[in-house]
Amino acid sequence: MLLGHGESVLRSAYAVASRGDGSDGPPNGAGVLYVTTLRIVFEASVARRRIGRRSLAETETQLDVSLHELKNVAVRRGRIGRPRLVLELAHGRPSFDVLEPEAWTGTIAQAKRALPPSGTAAWGSTHTIERQVVKVRCRFCGALGNEVDGRCPSCGAPL
Ligand SMILES: [Zn+2]
Repeated sequence: MLLGHGESVLRSAYAVASRGDGSDGPPNGAGVLYVTTLRIVFEASVARRRIGRRSLAETETQLDVSLHELKNVAVRRGRIGRPRLVLELAHGRPSFDVLEPEAWTGTIAQAKRALPPSGTAAWGSTHTIERQVVKVRCRFCGALGNEVDGRCPSCGAPL
């Protein structure tokens, strides 16, 4: 998996994904689930190639979502089978059979809380932070001052 500048993997493990809506599309099958400081990624193992004596796993990125797009994360316990980690996304609710799903919800929740505010560049592109300066007219002398300064530049009265 490729990491962006300043991005790091918080947790990764073998997981078996299922799309969660009954259909066959991705994410589906066995692979590796990653939580980074910015994203959740699932790379499915799609094939194994033999090159000489080496066996190479070919992977396919089936899920790559920003933590901003993640609405919720939960552990679903059915009557049968192991508990599953469920991701609530804008489009679908994929679930994962992964060891210690509770630890995953903890890691994901922490990563989400630590995210930079939505709209700042996650990686790659550059981003300029614009500060909006609001001008207000002084009640006492009528001069225009910057709201952020808190005081009139002409007479010093609070704005
Ligand atoms: Zn003034």
